[in-house]
Amino acid sequence: MGLFGFLKKDECCLCSEEVGPLSRARLKDKEEKIYVCNKCRKSRLSPFIDLVEMNKADVDKHLVQREKDGELYDEIFSDFQYRKLNELLSADHPWGYTKLGKYELRYHGDSGNYCIWEKHPDYDNFDVFHKDELEGACIHGEYADLKDANIIKYLHDRTVFNNFEFNEYPDENMKKLYLTIFTSHPYIHEIKLLVVDNGTTKEKREGREKAIETMRTINELVEKQNEDYGVKKKEVKSSMRDATTSATKALFTGKGREEAGGKIASAFNKMNAYNDPSHRDERIEGLRERNKMRKFE
Ligand SMILES: [Zn+2]
Repeated sequence: MGLFGFLKKDECCLCSEEVGPLSRARLKDKEEKIYVCNKCRKSRLSPFIDLVEMNKADVDKHLVQREKDGELYDEIFSDFQYRKLNELLSADHPWGYTKLGKYELRYHGDSGNYCIWEKHPDYDNFDVFHKDELEGACIHGEYADLKDANIIKYLHDRTVFNNFEFNEYPDENMKKLYLTIFTSHPYIHEIKLLVVDNGTTKEKREGREKAIETMRTINELVEKQNEDYGVKKKEVKSSMRDATTSATKALFTGKGREEAGGKIASAFNKMNAYNDPSHRDERIEGLRERNKMRKFE
């Protein structure tokens, strides 16, 4: 036995391959050290989940959810086609899409489902979520400072980008621009899409315009739905998913750590209190706060 032979080899809980410290992620389980290897992470789990906030049971439920979402994808998105020129005016083309950086946000009108599609993905399956699960969207990014190009200036979460902001954050200074979509899908809470990653000023402008247009469409849809359905009904609907996150569970059952539960509930109230566009930024802040609390819950 070598000097370190007594050390137990760590292995991935999904494929049982041995994992080194640099090629794994540790799950949230406290009693036991449980790891997922980078290969499984890329090939089997959604790129939009946060493993830091998941334990082994969550990962197992996520895999079941992914399988179901995968079936839904096969059913309604696998034969996706772009609208042909002669169909431009016909209303019966089933799909729509928006190009966002290397992604496409694809939409299936009849079922109301979205998917984030990627041309050359690292993984085989795509995440699907429903329009009823949309909670909001914002943009954020990194810009070179107007006076000193070596200084990075952050464009923090925002739901409007008017002329005043544009003067502060011109396209030619843009380094990165993200669109984050918030959902009540049980595992995909924040879908952070890199829409602009350098490029020409024209490309940056086009990327920004697409991101802003998508952000506005989503926020208007959410506000409309909150008004139509009543927020409570929407929450209940999202909790009907087979697997719910522990955070949502804590909220609806009152179990879980009280303090965290209370904070999550207050964040929920905060974001749901505002249906009108003038409170969009506050709604987004509430969503960020709630998702942050999930990590400590
Ligand atoms: Zn593995």
